[in-house]
Amino acid sequence: MFKAILIEKDDAGYRAGVTELADDRLPEGDVTVRVAYSTLNYKDGLAITGKGPVVRSFPMVPGIDLAGTVETSSHVGYKPGDQVVLNGWGVGETHWGGLGQKARLKGDWLVPLQAPFTPAQAMAIGTAGYTAMLCVLALEKNGITPEKGEVLVTGAAGGVGSVAVAVLAKLGYCVAASTGRPQEADYLKSLGAAEVIDRNTLSAPGKPLAKERWAAAVDSVGSHTLANICAQMRYGGVVAACGLAQGMDFPATVAPFILRGVTLAGVDSVYRPRDQRIQAWQRLASDLDVSKLEAITTTIGLGQVVETAGQLLSGQVRGRVVVDVNS
Ligand code: NAP
Repeated sequence: MFKAILIEKDDAGYRAGVTELADDRLPEGDVTVRVAYSTLNYKDGLAITGKGPVVRSFPMVPGIDLAGTVETSSHVGYKPGDQVVLNGWGVGETHWGGLGQKARLKGDWLVPLQAPFTPAQAMAIGTAGYTAMLCVLALEKNGITPEKGEVLVTGAAGGVGSVAVAVLAKLGYCVAASTGRPQEADYLKSLGAAEVIDRNTLSAPGKPLAKERWAAAVDSVGSHTLANICAQMRYGGVVAACGLAQGMDFPATVAPFILRGVTLAGVDSVYRPRDQRIQAWQRLASDLDVSKLEAITTTIGLGQVVETAGQLLSGQVRGRVVVDVNS
């Protein structure tokens, strides 16, 4: 038997809670993992509360991330005792996920735990932090260096934003952090932000082109914010877009792209090929100051997951939430 969060949807409605499950209910897979830690990402919040159509089959154990130890394996790449991490691949959406004490899944989806991270640190990073690193890699791939100028990070006090600020600052970038929570200014400066700006200056409908300011941006917000960022980019600037916390719409014009040569780089973490996942985790190992993770992270147990998921969606959670599935 093992404990997990289970989401059910039937005539009685949509509900999630901690439950005890028999091992024979685990789905198909060539690796069984004893989970140590999982996390709560924005997508997990949508899945657990039912506020977004994330879960594709019911009942579902949510959790798009996990870190743990291989218990049994018929996959050539893994043996019992190996420490592994999983991010994405539809886990927690179409296949039972990490918010339980056991998971069974495809070994091809796993990556080895990257030294020097512990399982708890890997989950403090989680999909949000790994996506932040993918955004940084997208900026680099498009020629951005610290000398090019200021980098804007939106949703800065959230999970993707916090890790993006910390990584970019360590790499030597001058980072402006956009947040709706001015009370988190000291937190954002402790992560390395040079300046904190009010997200309201970006979130309302704006002009097709505005004064040039940013050399690059990491956006986890979308909607008018993303349109305004594009309008404010300097000539040749690059925007890595990964999220939709404000909205999925993109009410923009082509002006920044055709008049200033701005690049809009889309970032997906879920179906990222394995070599790029490993590259991102290696770069996190070298470019994220692990001492910053403590300030970014809150740890909860399985019993607090449902309540915290609601708080996360209403923007009340700072940084990252780690779930100790055994506490
Ligand atoms: P999170 O921790 O909840 O952070 C989201 C942040 O966005 C909030 O903390 C808040 O930051 C800001 N925000 C919330 N509502 C807003 C609004 N109405 N207008 C403007 N800003 C708002 O979530 P996360 O895990 O970092 O994920 C952030 C986004 O990235 C989500 O949309 C998620 O789905 C997406 N994501 C995508 C991928 C991918 O593969 N493409 C991977 C991971 C995440 P402030 O309080 O600082 O304003």
